[in-house]
Amino acid sequence: MDIQNIISKITSLKKTLKDSVVIPAHHYIKSDIIAQADIVGDSYKLAKDCSKTHADFILFCGVKFMAEGARLLAKPNQKVLMPTLLAGCPLAEMIDESTACEAYKLISSLCAYEVAPVVYVNSNVALKGFCGKHNGAICTSSNAGKIINTYLNQGKAVFFSPDYNLGINSARILQIPENQIVIVKKDLSLLCKGSIKNARIFLWDGCCYVHKKFTVEHIRKLREQYPNIQIIVHPECDEEVVLQSDFVGSTQTILNTIKDAPEGSIWGVGTEYHFVERMAQNFSNKTILPLKISCCEDMGRITFQNVYESLQSIVQYPEKNRLLYEVTVPIEYYTNAKKAMHNMLSIVEDNK
Ligand code: SF4
Repeated sequence: MDIQNIISKITSLKKTLKDSVVIPAHHYIKSDIIAQADIVGDSYKLAKDCSKTHADFILFCGVKFMAEGARLLAKPNQKVLMPTLLAGCPLAEMIDESTACEAYKLISSLCAYEVAPVVYVNSNVALKGFCGKHNGAICTSSNAGKIINTYLNQGKAVFFSPDYNLGINSARILQIPENQIVIVKKDLSLLCKGSIKNARIFLWDGCCYVHKKFTVEHIRKLREQYPNIQIIVHPECDEEVVLQSDFVGSTQTILNTIKDAPEGSIWGVGTEYHFVERMAQNFSNKTILPLKISCCEDMGRITFQNVYESLQSIVQYPEKNRLLYEVTVPIEYYTNAKKAMHNMLSIVEDNK
C-alpha cells in the first residue's frame, strides 16, 4: 500500500471510530504520523492529558514506557494500545527492579537521611513499582527539579534513576553542593567527593544515547558560524553541553521558547532530530538548526502501516478479539507504579 493510500485509510478508520479512540503522540515521533495525532506533547503533557480522556481506546504513538504510563493512569475500562511493541527505550532498561532494590538498601544503610526514590518517567514499570513501594515519585524532564526539591525540603535524600544527566543537571540548578552528590555505578560502587553519610542525592549512572551524542564542539562550531545563535538543549545532554548552552529545558519548554522567540532569531537545538526538523518547518521565519542529527530509532519504529493495523484491529474488536497491541501492566507492579505516577501529579499540580 502506498503512503497516500494508508493515510486515507487511517483517516477513514478514525472517522468510523469517532471519539472512541484518541491518538496521543510524543514530539519525537516522525512528522507525518504526528499529523494523525489528537494530542502531541512531551511525557508530562501526554501523561496528564491521557489521564483525562474518556475514549475507550488510547492508541499511544511513543515508546513502551510512555504507553505503560498511560495504562497506569487510564480508567479500568479503557484499553491502551501501541502500534508496535518493538518501540522500547534503552534508557528505561538501564536499571532493573532488583538492582534498584539492592542499591536503595545499600544507600539507605550508609546515608544519615531517609532516602526517597525519584524515578524518571523513562523507566520500566517494575522500576516505577519500586519507586511507589518506597513512597517516591516519578518525574519528567519538565518537573525533575521540583520533585527532587520537594523531598530535599522534607529533610530526605534522593535516589535518582535511571538518567544521570537529568539528575546532575537538576542537582546543579538546585545548587546541591558537590560533596553531597554521589554517583551510583552499575556494580553498586559509590563515587563521592564528600562523605556518603551526608550526601543528599544519589545518581544512577544511566544515559540516553540520543542526547549523549551532542558535544561542546557542536556548539562551538555553530557559534562560530552564527555569532547571534542561541543554544537550547534537553537536560538529558551531558553537563558540559548544558553549561555551554543558553537555555535548558524539556521538549515542551524547547518548543515554547522557540515558538515565542522573535522572527529572524537563530537557534541551535540539542534534542531528537525529528522534533527539531518539525520546528524548523513550522517556524520557518526563524532559523532552527540541530546541534547534530541524532534520531531516536525506537520512536522511529512507529509507522503508518502499524498505526493503520492498530486502528483496524480496534474497528474489528471484539468480533476479532485481537487488539494490536494492547499494553498491560503486571498486577504486582500496578498499584505501586500508579501511586508513584500520582505522587508526581499531586506534587506538580499542588505546587502550581
Ligand atoms: S530519546 Fe532517548 S530517552 Fe527518549 S525514548 Fe529515545 S532513547 Fe529513550
